[in-house]
Amino acid sequence: MVNLIKLKYREKFMSKKIAILCSGGDVSGMNPALKRFVEYAKEKNLTPYFVYNGYEGLIDNKIKEASYCDVAGIITRGGTKIGSARSSRFMQASFRKIAKSNLDTLGIDMLIVLGGDGSFRGLNTFYKEHGIKFCGIPSTIDNDITGTDYCLGVDTALNIIKSSIDAIRDTASSFSRAFVVETMGRECGYLALVTHLTSGSELCLIPEKAYNLKEYEDKFKKEMLNGRRYFISIVAEGIEQNSQEIADWFENAIGIEARVNELGHIQRGGNPSVYDRLMAYEFVSYAIDGLLNNKNTSIICYSKNGFIYREIKEVAGIKKELDPELLSYLN
Ligand code: ADP
Repeated sequence: MVNLIKLKYREKFMSKKIAILCSGGDVSGMNPALKRFVEYAKEKNLTPYFVYNGYEGLIDNKIKEASYCDVAGIITRGGTKIGSARSSRFMQASFRKIAKSNLDTLGIDMLIVLGGDGSFRGLNTFYKEHGIKFCGIPSTIDNDITGTDYCLGVDTALNIIKSSIDAIRDTASSFSRAFVVETMGRECGYLALVTHLTSGSELCLIPEKAYNLKEYEDKFKKEMLNGRRYFISIVAEGIEQNSQEIADWFENAIGIEARVNELGHIQRGGNPSVYDRLMAYEFVSYAIDGLLNNKNTSIICYSKNGFIYREIKEVAGIKKELDPELLSYLN
């Protein structure tokens, strides 16, 4: 009886503990998400915890209570203040058991994970084995997570790519060159396609659409005869040919000097855009509200109709198809 009263007292007056971690590739928008996490958790009378360095930190017990001071001034910074990581140990059941026991020892029973599809696959396995309460926030510039039209970090990445291409265009037009700009995205051509549609490039090659360079030869040669001085082409990293081969094609088949620009990791960093700050704010608000309302196994997804909670089994490990409407614009 006494124990029962003690339990009721604890439930009523002790605040519940919630943790957040960042896993896989970092994105710009994670820091604004951490700031909102601390502020909204406290508003909801929860005790916020940071797990440092992704699943590695869960295993190594790098879990600390988070304060307002931890998140002061971080909203303008890309990356993540609490670190992210890839963890081969988390692929092993024995280490996931340690991770769970670390959470239990601290009395943390809710976990928010910012990450990509790999991180969600790991989370799903962790949940199936240990029944934790969690919420996932899609965070990858690749925008390749099934069930959501938008992943945190994509807008900032697109803006960085846009600025890079605007700058490259200055040189391309001055020097009369073809530039082959390679974007990230693994198997997904989203960044390349949206960049193509919004930067006025001449050519876009993505894994989702078969292409034959021969088909562009007459058109491009004719354009050069008509006075075209340069070409910008956007190439997704996941296509079969490498970017240098596309540049060689410009030189040999079209007859224009060509250069490759692999944008690489600059696409992942930088000051978070207004849109990513707002999305971070809303993703985290939905995550905490969901966990407080028994949405314990979901990923927050976003579509034109707004935010929605999807069960992790509908999302993790399922190949994402590129939006057919966007794809239809590519000719
Ligand atoms: P992202 O989340 O950006 O796709 P990764 O694919 O590298 O990044 O996955 C991040 C981490 O998620 C991995 O380093 C690993 O710790 C964990 N993970 C991925 N797949 C699994 C899995 N099947 N089981 C357990 N953990 C996994």
